[in-house]
Amino acid sequence: MTGIVVLGSTNMDLVAYVAHAPKRGETVTGRAFSTIPGGKGANQAVAAARAGGDVAMIGAVGTDEFGAPLRHTLVASGVDIDLLRTAEGPSGTAHIVVDDEGGNAIVVVPGANGTVTALTPGDETLIATADALLLQLELPLSAVIDGARAAHRHGVRTVLTPAPAQPLPPELLAVTDLLVPNEHEATALTGAADPHAAAKALLRQVPEVVITLGAAGSLHARRGAEPVIVPAPRVTAVDTTGAGDTFVGTLAVALGEGRPVEAALHWAATAAALCVQRPGASTSMPYRPEIDEAS
Ligand code: ADP
Repeated sequence: MTGIVVLGSTNMDLVAYVAHAPKRGETVTGRAFSTIPGGKGANQAVAAARAGGDVAMIGAVGTDEFGAPLRHTLVASGVDIDLLRTAEGPSGTAHIVVDDEGGNAIVVVPGANGTVTALTPGDETLIATADALLLQLELPLSAVIDGARAAHRHGVRTVLTPAPAQPLPPELLAVTDLLVPNEHEATALTGAADPHAAAKALLRQVPEVVITLGAAGSLHARRGAEPVIVPAPRVTAVDTTGAGDTFVGTLAVALGEGRPVEAALHWAATAAALCVQRPGASTSMPYRPEIDEAS
């Protein structure tokens, strides 16, 4: 039995560090470059596996030179990739320019991720055995809806990270058990700047919401219960990339173990706080003993 299945993206992040980002028609010389395996799906899978979850990933890598390292990153953290497909052509890539003020501009090219448009019968069989299915919006929406519906049919909890932000179709919301937007995504989805107001609006569409609030922690809201803010540990952040994915992956493990939701949110915030204190995304995600020790 697999506890957590992630249906999501794998991307190679191609990161250029520059003093200032180039304007249209301009060429600038960068200071440094790195290739970092990422993608929201893969990042959540790595976070959940490192937190002690039994995790499998459904998605696709390409036949280019990035396919092997993307697979390796998952395997090295203990993620089962038996159902990770290989699609002819390039892997997903994220072209990221980080400037000296820490701002960034990103172009994501879906590549192999774009070929995952529906589930296979094997995918559904795996999902049916899970405790939870983790979804994001970096695969074609048809696959996300297909996956969420399959999970719902089998009584498997669906956890949707609505990123990158886009309007969510009613048929997806209808089969979403837990929605985990960050503050910006919550505002984009509802038009409400205040997280309490956004949570209230979202609860009309899904039964449970966690809005992540960066250094301020997270807001949990469930139909029929008082909303609760769970603070984040006070730490010095050096790179917040992957914080949200660490949070969701770790949260899914804790909920799967039957922990009460506030304790689960506290544990997830501990893991995310460890992640932000180190550079990188998947590379900076903590393993279970470290999370336990810090919480
Ligand atoms: P995203 O990474 O998706 O933009 P957030 O910025 O809300 O999402 O961060 C997700 C979670 O990571 C937060 O709820 C919090 O637990 C943790 N986190 C993010 N930034 C910090 C920080 N500066 N200090 C401590 N924890 C943080």
